[in-house]
Amino acid sequence: MTQANYPSANGGNPFFEDWSGPFGVPPFGRIAPEHFPPAFDRAFAEHNAEVAAIAADPSTPAFDNTIAALELSGRPLARVSDVFSALSSAHTNDALLKIERDIAPRRARHWSGILLNEPLFRRIDAIHRDRDRLDLTAEQKRVLERYHVMFTRAGAALGAEARERLAAINERLATLGTAFSQNVLADEQAYTLVLDSEEDLAGLPDFVRAAARTAAADRGLTGKHVITLSRSSVEPFLQFSARRDLREKIFRAWIARGDTGSRTDNKAIIAEMLALRAEYARLLGYPTYAHFRLDDAMAKTPPAVRGLLDRVWAPARRRALADRDDMQELVRKDGGNFELAAWDWRYYAEKLRKLRCDVDEAAIKPYLQLHHIIEAAFYTAYRLFGLSFERRHDIETWHPDVQVYDVRGPDGSHRGLFFGDYFARPSKRSGAWMTTLRDQEKLAGDIRPLVVNVMNFSKGGDSQPTLLSYDDARTLFHEFGHGLHALLSDVTYPMISGTNVLTDWVELPSQLYEHWFERPEILERFALHYRSGRPMPDDLIKRLLAARTFNQGFMTVEYVASALVDLDLHLEAAPKDFDINVFEEAALGRIGMPAEIVMRHRPTHFAHIFAGGGYASAYYSYMWSEVLDADAFAAFEETGDIFHPATARALQDNVYGAGGSRDPAELYTAFRGRLPTPDALLRKRGLAEPAPQPG
Ligand SMILES: [Zn+2]
Repeated sequence: MTQANYPSANGGNPFFEDWSGPFGVPPFGRIAPEHFPPAFDRAFAEHNAEVAAIAADPSTPAFDNTIAALELSGRPLARVSDVFSALSSAHTNDALLKIERDIAPRRARHWSGILLNEPLFRRIDAIHRDRDRLDLTAEQKRVLERYHVMFTRAGAALGAEARERLAAINERLATLGTAFSQNVLADEQAYTLVLDSEEDLAGLPDFVRAAARTAAADRGLTGKHVITLSRSSVEPFLQFSARRDLREKIFRAWIARGDTGSRTDNKAIIAEMLALRAEYARLLGYPTYAHFRLDDAMAKTPPAVRGLLDRVWAPARRRALADRDDMQELVRKDGGNFELAAWDWRYYAEKLRKLRCDVDEAAIKPYLQLHHIIEAAFYTAYRLFGLSFERRHDIETWHPDVQVYDVRGPDGSHRGLFFGDYFARPSKRSGAWMTTLRDQEKLAGDIRPLVVNVMNFSKGGDSQPTLLSYDDARTLFHEFGHGLHALLSDVTYPMISGTNVLTDWVELPSQLYEHWFERPEILERFALHYRSGRPMPDDLIKRLLAARTFNQGFMTVEYVASALVDLDLHLEAAPKDFDINVFEEAALGRIGMPAEIVMRHRPTHFAHIFAGGGYASAYYSYMWSEVLDADAFAAFEETGDIFHPATARALQDNVYGAGGSRDPAELYTAFRGRLPTPDALLRKRGLAEPAPQPG
C-alpha cells in the first residue's frame, strides 16, 4: 500500500506521524474523530501486507520468521485501536460512536482474515508440531502455544466453508456487541432524576447532595440536584433517600436499561448473539459456547464453574434471606405497612448496618478523599514493589480531569506512565475499567507501558474534595491492581504481556490488591477527615472492618445470580425464538432467587457478556479469582507482615510481573507452593459459619 491512496495522509493526521512527545504518548490534543477512518484504513492494509509476506515466506517455518514476525506486525493498527477504544469508552461523542459502528465489523473481518489464513496456520502448525525439537526458551514455547490455541479456536484448522461462516459470525457479533453497548449508554444518558425540592432530598447526606448538584451543573441545571443511572450516583441515592416513591422510580429505570421496548432495546440483539455464539461453538466441535469458552480457561469445564458457584450460592442465599427478615422487621417497627422491595434493600440495609455494626456510610465517607486514596494505592505499591509515582503536568490527555504519573522502579528507572481518569461525565460509559495505550514488551525495544484507569466517581461539588464510598475506594484499588499487572509486566512478547492472560486469572492481581485497602495499616494513614485532616479513629476502623462481612449475603447473591445466568445462557445448545426475559425468570426461579434482590447485571445491560465477548460464559471469573486472591493474601497474613518482602518478591515474580508467560496453575503454585481451596473465600465473605437464625 502506498500513501497515495490516502489523500489526507500528509494533512496532519497524527496517526501517520511518529509520536515524539514525552514517552511517545499519543498527541491527544491533536487527535480528532476524522483522523480515525483513514488511520484504520491504512493500518488494516499495512497489517495485511505484513501478514501476507509472513505467510508467503519461502524459507522453512521457524519461530523467528513466523511467530516473532507476527508479534512485530500490525503496530500501527495496535496504536490506532488502543487510542480509539480508550476514547470511545472514556470520552465519546456522536462522531466517535458512528465510527465505532463502522469499525467494529471491519475490525472483526480483518482479524478473521488473519486467523483463518490457511498458509499462515500451516506454518504455525508446523512449528508447533516441531516445538520440542526447536531450541526455544520457556517464554517462546508459551507464546507459540498461545498462537496455536488462538488460531485453532478461531477455526484455522477447519474447511473453507466453516471458516467462511466463522468469519461472518464474528463480523456480525462485533456489530451486535457495539449496538448493545451503545444502547446501554444511550439509556443511561437519556435518564435523569431531577430533585426539585427539599422534600425530594429527604434523607440524603451532604456528599450525595453535593455530587447531585455537580451532576445537575454538568447538564446545565445549575442550582438543582440530579441523580443519574451511573452506579456511583444511583447506589448512594438508594441507600439514603427516605423517599420510597423516588427510590422505586429510579430503581425501575436502572434495571430497565436495555429493556425499555424502545429503539435502544437489547433483547433481540441478545437472542441473535446467543444463537450465533452457539453456532460458532458447534462449528468448532463443542456442544455449547460455554464448553468452548471454558476449554481455554483455568476452570476448564462448565461443571467446575457450577461447582464453585453452587458451593457459594447456598450459604449466601441463606444469609440474604435472614437479613431480609431482619429488615422486614425494621420496616414494621418504622410503621411501614409494606413488603420489603428491591428498591428498599439498600436503604434498610444501611439502617441495619447502623444497628448491628454501629457504622454508617455517611460517617465513613468524609474520611475517604479521592486524592488520599490514590496516595494509599501508590504507597502500597511502594511498600510491596518499591514503585514511586510522580505527577506530570506536561503529558497530553483526552480530558482535563485526567491525572498522569511517571512510575519509577526501586532503582529510579522509568517503568511506565499511569493515567487516572476518575470522574463520571456524560461522555463516559458507566463502570470502572483498566486499559492500556501501549503494552510492555522487549521485542521491539525496551517498551514501557502506558496504563489507564477509568472510574465513574461523582465529583465533589462546590469546591469540596471528592469523597468516595467504601466501595468506590475498593474499586480504585481493584483497577489499580490491574494497572500494576501491566506496569510490572516483565516479558519479551506482547502476546503474553501484562493483563493478556486467561480471564479467570486476570482478576487475581486486581482483587488481591483490594485486600491492602481494607487494612488498618493503610486506613490509619490515608483515611483522613476532609475537614479536620484527622485520621479515622481506631474505633471506627475496627467497627468498619468488622462490618465487612455485613450484607455479604446480598452482594454474593447479586453476583452469583449474574454468573449462573451467564453460564446457563451459554449452555443453551441451540437457542431459538429466544425470549431473554422468560429465560431470566426461569433461570432465577431454578436457583430460588430472593424476590427482593435483582441480579447485579440484568442481561439487557450485562456489558461484560454482551458488549463484546470479554466475559461471555466467564463472569464467574471474579469468584474464581477470589478463591485465588483470598488464599494469596493469606500468604502475607501468615507471615504477620502485609508487606512481607520475600512474599512480595514471589508475588511480583509469579503474578504481577509474569503476565501470561506460564500456565496460571503453574504460576500460582510457584507463588504459594500449592493450589488454593475456597475456604479462605468463604471466611472472607463471612459465609463459612452457619447463618444466624432470623428473628
Ligand atoms: Zn477487574
